[in-house]
Amino acid sequence: MTDLLLPPDLAALPPMDIGARIHRLRSAMVAHEPVLQALVVSSLTNIRYLTGFTGSAAVLLITDHDWLFVSDGRYGEQAEQQLRGAGVDCRIEISTYEQKDLLAGFIVNHGLVAIGFEADHVTVSQLAGFASGAFEGVEMLATSGLVEKLRLVKDAGEIARLQAAASVADAALASVRHRLGEGIREADFALELDFAIRRLTPSGNSFETIVAAGENGAKPHARPGDRPVQEGDLVVVDFGSIVDGYCSDMTRTVMVGEPTPEQARMLAVVLEAQRAGVEAVKAGVEAKAIDAVCRDIIIEAGWGDAFSHSTGHGVGLDIHEAPRVSKLSDTTVETGFVITVEPGVYLPGHGGVRIEDTVVVTDEGCWALNNTSKSTSI
Ligand code: ZN
Ligand code: ZN
Repeated sequence: MTDLLLPPDLAALPPMDIGARIHRLRSAMVAHEPVLQALVVSSLTNIRYLTGFTGSAAVLLITDHDWLFVSDGRYGEQAEQQLRGAGVDCRIEISTYEQKDLLAGFIVNHGLVAIGFEADHVTVSQLAGFASGAFEGVEMLATSGLVEKLRLVKDAGEIARLQAAASVADAALASVRHRLGEGIREADFALELDFAIRRLTPSGNSFETIVAAGENGAKPHARPGDRPVQEGDLVVVDFGSIVDGYCSDMTRTVMVGEPTPEQARMLAVVLEAQRAGVEAVKAGVEAKAIDAVCRDIIIEAGWGDAFSHSTGHGVGLDIHEAPRVSKLSDTTVETGFVITVEPGVYLPGHGGVRIEDTVVVTDEGCWALNNTSKSTSI
């Protein structure tokens, strides 16, 4: 570990205008069919986006002119600090045992007869609990993706955090990369990489690190195990960090020793597909067209069936969020979207190659948040 590894300076990052996000959500509630008189937000990620709250339990109830945040006794001080610090003007109620009454009182006071709920985040039993509890007698309307759509376009503060998370990943990999040439086990390399990340950001990893050597690389989401990294291995390393809630995601494939002709061809094809995919990213382009650019190059090489996943996904407060960059996607990417481009080829018995960048979409094209070279040498 060198002194060159410095944690990001959070105080130097541009602020995010969290307090203004509620206005965009209210516009979406009005535009919703049917118009939403009120919305209950229960996804903690969406609550964080709207309020800055990072605790593990809360619910938001929102109307066109008022909103209520309810959490339990563990989070009184934290909620006050985070919400007011973010410029959020909602009511804050803290109660461990009377949340139901607080919500029910708000509903009565506002004469609410119908409330939208986040169908993608509410379980069947939670919905039954709503219906027989605080929301008894109120019509519950299923909604999908209302807050997630707001999250698609990242503001400057969000992009700065995503970039800081990507820089942490760059620095962490650079600090341990040489270990891949020393016969280290996959799991030990993952541990060293995770440790380097943790030293740079207290939030740690954005997902469980993938280190897949040799034949293990043929499984796109292999878990690191006991296998030592050996001469002749392709090693897929897919990992990321979190800075102030925002995730990074990057994959590099390293070649230990000299590649066989088959390995060299896999590396060249995936590199070309990934380069072409990134080049295709621009505001106004359909996500499925970006997928097609990558996929066509791999199909042309005869490995269409070996590219067994979609090309990418959005990255933000969640490691996987909208939009999907897939042939099934109906999204057109816009300026401020942050997406991954990560084609791969996986050949059982041989191994795998995946290369992934996370890019910010602009009017002219895109730029990569991560900076690690795509060289396959250790
Ligand atoms: Zn990844
Ligand atoms: Zn990814």
